[in-house]
Amino acid sequence: MIALNDLARQTRIIRDHVDAAVARVCDRGWYVNGPELAAFESEFADYCGGGHGVGCANGTDALELGLLALGIQRGDEVVIAANAGFYSATALRAVGAQPVYVDVDGSSLVLNAPAIAAAVSAATKAVIVTHLYGRMAPMRSVRTLCDERGIALIEDCAQAHGARQEGRRAGHWGDIGCFSFYPTKNLGAIGDGGLVLCRRADVADRLRQLRQYGWQQKYVSVSGPARNSRLDELQAAVLRTKLPLLDAWNERRREIARAYAGVANADIAHPDVRGDDYVAHLYVVRTPFRDSLQRHLQGAGIASEVHYPLLDTQQPVLAAPDSWHLPESEKAVKEILTLPCYPELADREVRHICDTLATWKR
Ligand SMILES: *Cc1c(COP(=O)(O)O)cnc(C)c1O
Repeated sequence: MIALNDLARQTRIIRDHVDAAVARVCDRGWYVNGPELAAFESEFADYCGGGHGVGCANGTDALELGLLALGIQRGDEVVIAANAGFYSATALRAVGAQPVYVDVDGSSLVLNAPAIAAAVSAATKAVIVTHLYGRMAPMRSVRTLCDERGIALIEDCAQAHGARQEGRRAGHWGDIGCFSFYPTKNLGAIGDGGLVLCRRADVADRLRQLRQYGWQQKYVSVSGPARNSRLDELQAAVLRTKLPLLDAWNERRREIARAYAGVANADIAHPDVRGDDYVAHLYVVRTPFRDSLQRHLQGAGIASEVHYPLLDTQQPVLAAPDSWHLPESEKAVKEILTLPCYPELADREVRHICDTLATWKR
């Protein structure tokens, strides 16, 4: 069976480096808020093109802390997409802000500036764009729109580490870029992890307070509503060993995506795999006959999954779902299917997946 992800493969390849990183932390005896975190924060920020990195416990916390650091409060409206896994919405719910759902572009499945512009009101304080499946939203026009309207721009980069548009990395366009290092991400820890990237030093200071009880210094709380959300030394050390490999891993992901995209089957629509603003986090095809394709793949020993089976607006936790007009999102959610796409896939596995796609008949 070709799994959707096989995390042990990557660890096996770089095992000596991971072991050395773990040993370094164990021997030092400094396990939280130490030199590995400080080094990773600055190395990751440099990789992204500069600014300040503030580590935290996971990607959802990065979004929540980012919202708080920008001053988003209860009742503020924040524009988001509905097809991005409910992560942004979870963060908005935690701070009490109101999601305003905007439909995504029907082919790229990410937000664009005209759609955002149509939804912005006087109560809109921010936009969260999710670079879904590793495809960046069109940032030049979104950035311009946010500047013109005086609203904050938050990038959810949890699926887009290292992606670049006009030479500028994901996370560097927004006022804030939020990253997850969940193990399956393009840059993954061996556990949970997250980071907020920001350009302003005062915002970074506030983030450092908000992630640790509101402390300005030990035991002196000046910021709220704060919490405890830290990226520990073991995870930071492992991430440091992986960061130099990220570009090559992304290139290998793109190579696999290009192979899939070359398969002609009239019932399968492929994503656009061109450009380095796509880092193939998930390879997501579309077909109106999804169950049939999934069964065919399964029969050939290939796992597949749906990211994501529900729109935010369809989540059971929302007692009385509002009626949003999201035709492209609603169409896509019924057609999307994710294929295995990770750097450690062998060429023969990629070929087997291509052959299986080519021979499928609905
Ligand atoms: C994974 C993911 C998150 C959440 O990250 P966690 O570390 O699991 O909290 C947020 N947004 C997107 C788009 C993601 O893919």
